[in-house]
Amino acid sequence: LIAFLLYLFYLVAPIGQLVEGAVQLQNGLAALKRIREIEDLPGEPDTPVTEQRGEPVGVSFESVVFQYGEDRETVHKDVTFEVPPGGLTALVGPSGAGKSTVFALLERFYDHQGGTITVGGREIRDWPLGDLRAALGYVEQDAPVLAGTLRENLLFAAQDSSEEELWRAIRRTRLDDLVSRLPEGLETAVGHRGVLLSGGERQRVAIARALLRKPRLLLLDEATSQLDAVNELRLREVIAEVAAETTVLVIAHRLSTVTNADRIVVMEAGEVRAVGTHDELVGADELYRELAATQFLVS
Ligand code: ADP
Ligand code: MG
Repeated sequence: LIAFLLYLFYLVAPIGQLVEGAVQLQNGLAALKRIREIEDLPGEPDTPVTEQRGEPVGVSFESVVFQYGEDRETVHKDVTFEVPPGGLTALVGPSGAGKSTVFALLERFYDHQGGTITVGGREIRDWPLGDLRAALGYVEQDAPVLAGTLRENLLFAAQDSSEEELWRAIRRTRLDDLVSRLPEGLETAVGHRGVLLSGGERQRVAIARALLRKPRLLLLDEATSQLDAVNELRLREVIAEVAAETTVLVIAHRLSTVTNADRIVVMEAGEVRAVGTHDELVGADELYRELAATQFLVS
């Protein structure tokens, strides 16, 4: 009987090992498959990032024509405006005017069909895509806070930032108050699994996240939701401070943003109808006057 049991043991043991090995192999294969899937995601072409950090760049649109598809209507009929390097330029205009499309073309999510777009004096199609996207910082409208700690949220797109760079971005975006108020500071979980941040705080987290990538041009699609007076003032300060260092192009929904802008581009139905400062436009452009009186001043 003992011999029989021993025989059984010898028979079973290797099978056990085999099964275990097979499970390990399967786990390994699954992991490998996941990595492959991530690698296979469609992405930007492999272009060298040689001009990632540096001086602010200007932008120009010259008679730009664009439609999202051949069977679609023309979104940009004739868009012409110039943004010099540095400073704050605001894009305003009614919904559907083509403001967000300006950002989509600058990010090169789409290619324009007519006219010329330059970034830093160079035709946008001549930029290696990796360099272009590294040069741009994009803060989308109502930017989300990701699950995780505040630190993870800030460093999401710039993992190699130093502690000093991180704190500089925090101070520049007036988030230091928030950090000292949170129970575990930067290590506090935020987002829907943690401390909920206000709209104004979320927006400044998104700006800090973009700044850590040291953009040469910051594209900011301002949140349409209302900010309280304190947050509105902070946002105005932050935008002014950032615009002193780099080029900021903002799709503006707030009067406080446009009154501070160096220039405002008024768009309507796929065209630029006026460019000027707030004071100039209030005097010269009927649509701007109307927008300033109604859309911006929601009380
Ligand atoms: P704005 O930001 O000034 O409100 P948009 O640039 O978002 O205007 O949109 C301009 C026009 O382009 C609108 O008619 C809109 O429906 C259309 N549009 C915007 N994005 C897309 C898209 N991804 N595909 C097709 N049409 C779009
Ligand atoms: Mg828009």
